[in-house]
Amino acid sequence: MDTNYEILIIGTGFSGIGMGVKLREMGIHDFAILEQADEVGGTWRDNDYPGAACDVQSLLYSFSFDQNPRWSRMFAEQKEILEYLKGVADRYGVRPHIRFGCKVTGARWNDRRGQWKIELEDGRTFTSKVLIAGSGGLSRPAFPVIPGQDVYRGPAFHTARWDHSFDLTNKSVAVIGTGASAIQVVPAIVPKVGQLKLFQRTPAWVMPKPDREIGRFEQRMYAAMPFTLHAARASIYWMLESRLIGFVGKPALMEYAKKDALAFIHKEIQDPELRVKVTPDYAFGCKRVLLSNDYYAALTRDNVEVVTDGIERLGERSVVTRDGVERPVDAIVYATGFQVGDFSAAPFEITGRDGIDLREVWRDGAEAYFGASIAGFPNLFLITGPNTGLGHTSMVLMIEAHIQYVSSAIRTMREKQLATVDVRKDVQDAFNRRLHARLSRTIWATGGCKSWYQTSAGKIVALWPGSTVTFRKRTEQFDLSKYEATAASAIAEAPQPAEAPASEIAGSV
Ligand code: NAP
Repeated sequence: MDTNYEILIIGTGFSGIGMGVKLREMGIHDFAILEQADEVGGTWRDNDYPGAACDVQSLLYSFSFDQNPRWSRMFAEQKEILEYLKGVADRYGVRPHIRFGCKVTGARWNDRRGQWKIELEDGRTFTSKVLIAGSGGLSRPAFPVIPGQDVYRGPAFHTARWDHSFDLTNKSVAVIGTGASAIQVVPAIVPKVGQLKLFQRTPAWVMPKPDREIGRFEQRMYAAMPFTLHAARASIYWMLESRLIGFVGKPALMEYAKKDALAFIHKEIQDPELRVKVTPDYAFGCKRVLLSNDYYAALTRDNVEVVTDGIERLGERSVVTRDGVERPVDAIVYATGFQVGDFSAAPFEITGRDGIDLREVWRDGAEAYFGASIAGFPNLFLITGPNTGLGHTSMVLMIEAHIQYVSSAIRTMREKQLATVDVRKDVQDAFNRRLHARLSRTIWATGGCKSWYQTSAGKIVALWPGSTVTFRKRTEQFDLSKYEATAASAIAEAPQPAEAPASEIAGSV
């Protein structure tokens, strides 16, 4: 028997929890949030590798409606962000709506009923009028295909699935990758391991992290005088927002930042060979700019080797590079990122009108309308879908903009008694033509790098080429004229014995 809700949300990261808060604020209670794990948190639950922390200031990397005066640092660590998210779920009454242990494997649109049917791994099924995917762009770890992976016999794990049962003490550890995760994990484990072999394919531009403790006095001030907290958040917001110009407007401005980054390498690393190894040959900002105060210093330690020769294969307990050198290792850490780019479809099968498969629709790179709606997939909303990522500021800003957009859509559907809304294909196509014309002039396209922002053919599917101000403004109100709509009365009435609101069945919300 299907369990039916008006609205189903997938995932309990910032997106799912924030959406739940908004629905309750709107007086909507007939909704559930499906979560595959047994706790909330999304990426901040899964990425608990040593050193995991935010690289955006916490005063901004938090909900605008629940600003936290008690962050202990400017850039909070993973545990503190996870506690914050758990707190939001509890404080705003979202937790009773969450169905833990619900791993979604498929979602299928039923045009006759105007309903989504959601299938779980364990065979259970749910139905809902509206489906909101808050499963995030960076949720599925990417593992490179390396010859010999079937031969290798030692422990191996991804940063997003850290094996805490494995003791790294005095072990020889290979870390593959030098992105945002690697630059946090390397300094965190280097004092403990015996040897660390860092396999670098492409170096990243790294800048100092303006991190510091937030002392008791400052915390008390933020709590007692909330306007000081709001002012501090606003100043961080505008400082980060102003950086956008270098990415999308005047890429030449990045030359100034590049000089600073080169000076940072020079200051932190004395060995000329290592300096050359870590210096990128592409434009500053083309890949995500990383922030760290201890990464370069970690690379200069005696027990660290930065290997740039390229991995040829794995042996039983070793990594062999193209120059023929075999390095024995006790464990391999894959800091190799997430399935975005070519793999940007949802982590489960989504079938829309006339049986169309989203993976097929997105074969040449994901597209949507403002990253939220996809033609042919009625009543489906993505929170931070294609082209909504940012290279310069907090993703929570985009998540909140999308929550506002989806809530405006739901309000419109309720007020106008609509059964379905489906974005017009011509509107979506025109939107994407303009978007990609703009993206083609950004540093992400012209900077001479390959990044996870792109598909293998070079199409940028991850980033929004504008300011968060513009995005927020343009997504504030749902515009029904951009959608094809069906009135509720037009949906055929079918006998639906199993479709009583789940709140009556589950009884809890
Ligand atoms: P990433 O930026 O995609 O980095 C993956 C790394 O693995 C790259 O250095 C890549 O090299 C390397 N790699 C992939 N396949 C390889 C292979 N076959 N051989 C050698 N190296 C290989 O992934 P990430 O570091 O997990 O970060 C992903 C995103 O997550 C970030 O950009 C950020 O948005 C987010 N994140 C945020 C934080 C935070 O503090 N808020 C922390 C971690 C992650 P190439 O560059 O050559 O492809």
